Amino acid sequence: MYNEIKDIKRIVIKVGTSTLTHQTGRLNIRRVESLVKVISDLKNMGKEIILVSSGAIGVGAGCMGMTERPREKVAKQAAAAVGQCELMNIYAKMFREYEHTVAQILLTKDVVEVPESKENAINTFMKLLEYGVIPIVNENDTISTKEAEFGDNDTLSAVVATLAEAGLLVILTDIDGVYDSNPKEHDDAKMIDVVENVDDIMDVAGGAGSSLGTGGMITKLEAAKIAGEKGIHTIIMGGCNPKRLYDITSGKPVGTLLKGDASK
Ligand code: GLU
Repeated sequence: MYNEIKDIKRIVIKVGTSTLTHQTGRLNIRRVESLVKVISDLKNMGKEIILVSSGAIGVGAGCMGMTERPREKVAKQAAAAVGQCELMNIYAKMFREYEHTVAQILLTKDVVEVPESKENAINTFMKLLEYGVIPIVNENDTISTKEAEFGDNDTLSAVVATLAEAGLLVILTDIDGVYDSNPKEHDDAKMIDVVENVDDIMDVAGGAGSSLGTGGMITKLEAAKIAGEKGIHTIIMGGCNPKRLYDITSGKPVGTLLKGDASK
């Protein structure tokens, strides 16, 4: 299976705030540098990469001197406006060092629900990839409303993978894969290597005594389901060492692979 995965050309990589930032909310520069370097190298190998990056609110809050992540809606929107700018500035600068160009795409849920805007988004992704640009996507947190918000970037990354017709979605997170029970509570918790059918795991996640639903795992599984229905495979893996992305391109197992199957 990993032999098939290693040849997939178009990959969406999702990275979350906890992977990108320190506890202080400021950017984890070493980690981001490593991620940028590996992605640049994957591009040089001939892969097409779309990066779905969170961190706007977290980084913005840090820049604005807020001592904790804002809870109030307008403060979140303001922090996102500051942080998105800062994030893109850093990504553009770091990717430029490896001679790669980035583009910013900010989406709201209604964009993909209105056929004309959806088509515009698809066309833009395709054109950017044709030109070898790395699209960096986030939710447009400043203007998205309750009715029109993805809410989390896991769902957003799955939607992006379907719009861009990717073959693989990689979700980088703070745990090294999907476990059969909460590894923080159960010493004997085992990581699941391959999931044939996401629905089986959803049941585990929803069942009593399981903590798969904590730490945002449920939204990641839902993302894998959305992607899987379009035949896109998902890998959920730890993001603390971005070099492990090379395992995917060398056909080595990493994290949890959730198989996509468009016929389901
Ligand atoms: N769009 C939010 C941000 O950039 C993050 C949402 C999420 O973490 O899923 O801060």
